[in-house]
Amino acid sequence: MAKSPEEHPQKAFGWAARDPSGTLSPFHFSRRENGDEDVTVKILYCGVCHSDLHSVKNEWGITRYPIVPGHEIVGIVIQLGNNVKKFKMGDRVGVGVLVGSCKTCETCQQDLENYCPSMIFTYNSTSQDGTRTYGGYSDIVVVDQRYVLRIPDNLPSDAAAPLLCAGITVYSPMKYYGMTEPGKHLGVAGLGGLGHVAVKFGKAFGLKVTVISTSPNKEDEAINKLGADSFLVSTNPEKVQAALGTMDYIIDTVSAIHSLAPLLAMLKLNGKLITVGLPDKPLELPIFPLVMGRKLIGGSDIGGIKETQEMLDFCAKHNITADIELIQMDYINTAMKRLSKSDVKYRFVIDVANSLSQ
Ligand code: NAP
Ligand code: ZN
Repeated sequence: MAKSPEEHPQKAFGWAARDPSGTLSPFHFSRRENGDEDVTVKILYCGVCHSDLHSVKNEWGITRYPIVPGHEIVGIVIQLGNNVKKFKMGDRVGVGVLVGSCKTCETCQQDLENYCPSMIFTYNSTSQDGTRTYGGYSDIVVVDQRYVLRIPDNLPSDAAAPLLCAGITVYSPMKYYGMTEPGKHLGVAGLGGLGHVAVKFGKAFGLKVTVISTSPNKEDEAINKLGADSFLVSTNPEKVQAALGTMDYIIDTVSAIHSLAPLLAMLKLNGKLITVGLPDKPLELPIFPLVMGRKLIGGSDIGGIKETQEMLDFCAKHNITADIELIQMDYINTAMKRLSKSDVKYRFVIDVANSLSQ
């Protein structure tokens, strides 16, 4: 039986949702003792992913309350286990979506812990000791060193935080599905947290990038700030018509139910549509455009720890960070409402260390 959160020795404090209203409020709990393989991280910043919103509202039907969300964590190492060689006190580190896995299965052996059947999520999951995991909208977190990332020196802590989920979630499929050939045309559907980082990766890989969006007010920035080559509003039939058959790849980051038909139609022969968004209901699969153009649909779930480090180092080299709106902890319920309306450019990040007061 799961232990109550009060049984651990390290006191912790954060914000939790108690029911499907998703409203977050202060929450006292505890973290496990720092074991031999563990590091304790003082959390500085935590990004606000749409998965946090799906989760606090129980949109996927798997939430157990109370839930402390947050899996885009950057912080400082304040405690080290005896066996920790990878980090030292004061190091700037990151924690993403996963904090544990079996370490022995085929996927773990291949550095694909993100597909391990026993993967432990940073929040709303059960730890090896049977207790619940709580995420980064909190003051400290205790994590096995294997799942802790090093933040490269030239990346700012706040704008790097979203890379731990949004960044790796788009980087990993772009690499795996070969969406990196310079000169090819990438469509990015949904210009939110994931989408805007996908635009930056696309440009860093030398692709032509078109944003496919429902928000006309994002056009100017998409082109002039994020570096997209073009922008099309998916509700404008003329724009969609002009884009048919023009794209080699599309990465679909949309968080809600939407039609795949126009996206498939925008692909060239042999085009690839890779979906990473996680709407709460199944999408319809239009077979004809798929079959007639020998097209491929794939999915992808975050990335392994090794690849996440590779992605952070790639970001350091290419000066890629998220465009963020830094918020105080007590703004989180307003931020969640705005996120539900796609009203953020492009990621809220909570200034945890400076605004989490008991
Ligand atoms: P986000 O910041 O809210 O961005 C999602 C974007 O989708 C919005 O900005 C909006 O872009 C577009 N959108 C929203 N509602 C729409 C609708 N009804 N029709 C068409 N477009 C719509 O969310 P995010 O944090 O990037 O996450 C996106 C999705 O990926 C979520 O479902 C999240 O749970 C999932 N996710 C998956 C993984 C994974 O490993 N696979 C990891 C992280 C997140 P425009 O304004 O440009 O239209
Ligand atoms: Zn996320």
